Amino acid sequence: MVPPAVSPTKLDEAKAALERGAFDEALRLIEVANAETPDDTETRELYAVTHLAKAIRLSEEARKARQAALGQRKIEYEEEFQDDPQVSQTFDEALAAIEDVLRVEPTHWKARMLKASLLFRRDRESGRPQALAILHALAVAEPTNKQVPFAIRKIERPCERCGDTGFCPPCKGRGHRQFLGLDRKCERCYGRGICPACGVL
Ligand SMILES: [Zn+2]
Ligand SMILES: [Zn+2]
Repeated sequence: MVPPAVSPTKLDEAKAALERGAFDEALRLIEVANAETPDDTETRELYAVTHLAKAIRLSEEARKARQAALGQRKIEYEEEFQDDPQVSQTFDEALAAIEDVLRVEPTHWKARMLKASLLFRRDRESGRPQALAILHALAVAEPTNKQVPFAIRKIERPCERCGDTGFCPPCKGRGHRQFLGLDRKCERCYGRGICPACGVL
């Protein structure tokens, strides 16, 4: 007699979806798995890793959207800069994904680093003290981690190089420059438009 097939768990299904490259489906399955078995370590780890990946993807999207908006508006970077609602929303979604990671793994240091960086990048004035509070707590929890004091030094004071706008001065945050009539990638920021002195992570 053939034994009855064991039905795959939601965790198995999530792993299979990841292997297929179906990232959104994997996220949905791992959320179900985590809701069903919140105390299962493997489920929690996969939940944390996938939601961190989602947050990283969204923070990169927010950076690109801000850079594109800057290019379209042709504003000078010294001017008071306000994000488009769509850019703010992408930052908020990235922060929400980070909160998801921290809900299941409150001490996840990469998630805490990324949260500090996102808060700072979204709005320096309100984000700087929030980011520094997270980083100082991390420095206590992870005294041997060199990235933490490095990040603190980068953001603790307003940056003189870029007037604390966070935008790369030579290309004014656009990531590319006109040179001899040609549009070229800015070599100072590797085309990312972020100030090399204070841009974090
Ligand atoms: Zn700077
Ligand atoms: Zn640049």
